[in-house]
Amino acid sequence: MGSKHHIKFSRPLLKWWHAHGRKDLPWQQEPSVYKTWISEIMLQQTQVITVIPYFTKFINRFPDVDSLATASDDDVMSMWSGLGFYSRARNLHKAAKIITENHNKQIPNTYEALITLPGIGRSTAGAILSLSRIEPKAILDGNVKRVLSRFYSVQGDLKTAETQKKLWHLAEKCLPVKDYDLYTQAIMDLGATVCTSKKAMCSMCPLSKDCSALEKDIVYLLPNKILRKKKRRESIYFMIIKDPSEKLLLQKRQDKGIWGGLWSFPELDTSENIEDWCDRKVGKSLKSLEYGKKMVHGFSHFDLEINPIFIKINKPIKKQKNQKIFTSHEISQLGVPKPVKSIIKGLEG
Ligand code: SF4
Repeated sequence: MGSKHHIKFSRPLLKWWHAHGRKDLPWQQEPSVYKTWISEIMLQQTQVITVIPYFTKFINRFPDVDSLATASDDDVMSMWSGLGFYSRARNLHKAAKIITENHNKQIPNTYEALITLPGIGRSTAGAILSLSRIEPKAILDGNVKRVLSRFYSVQGDLKTAETQKKLWHLAEKCLPVKDYDLYTQAIMDLGATVCTSKKAMCSMCPLSKDCSALEKDIVYLLPNKILRKKKRRESIYFMIIKDPSEKLLLQKRQDKGIWGGLWSFPELDTSENIEDWCDRKVGKSLKSLEYGKKMVHGFSHFDLEINPIFIKINKPIKKQKNQKIFTSHEISQLGVPKPVKSIIKGLEG
């Protein structure tokens, strides 16, 4: 305490948080280490506003480590369905099982043990420990990287080890020994609501007096990211097969890759011939085939163009091991990717 970082950075930030910070987030109500862990994992790649309803639903369904550990894969994936980056849900589920088996159902309270759990990296472990007031540990998520790199004019490319090291060093220096839980919440809030990537509200920022990026007029040049290459685009057919009982055929995806572990329609590369595929798969039981409207689903590294093909058949289909037929109501209880959800909604509407 009393360091220049505290006087210029943490102190005004804490003061600001008391007046303007978020205190009514659902994971701040009757807080627990479990709630902090779940919310931090959800917030890793998703904004607060999107996370809130998912968090509430998830906590109602899995109120503690034990209920999460004993849930089925499908149950967990269905609660996550629509939130994206599904490896987060698989890792949460795996970690809950490890906590049950190796830690007597108690989420570990040391950095060394937390970091060994699937899905928990250095920043998430820091957030769990600091926000739960177990011990002061720095965090460095996307919001914190932006605030620190602007305030201190850290100019190197964010992806390099050298820049990461500099930012971790600053994150540790700024962390106060007292009120480190509030400070951690404060820096995340400031990055999410004031020091945002496209519309920084410097005139309302408690750090503006000493902010180096503001002084040099380089706010929007920081943090420095190497320009992303144009996203590649992949294109597939979704084969939406309805059998005589009006049920739809879904296929459970492998754990690895996009939408890992979720139920989706069988897919076909657009270089394949649909008629040939139908001949092979449904043969004479084909009743009708219709081309649906193309949709594009963006992933972080590529765009997926989905071309729905609606097929009706008049005999039950021969299913593969990873395939099952479901009513649309049953599908609403499963973990399915967003585009599958919207196609089913279209079928119902
Ligand atoms: S003054 Fe502007 S750039 Fe600097 S920390 Fe505040 S909002 Fe971000």
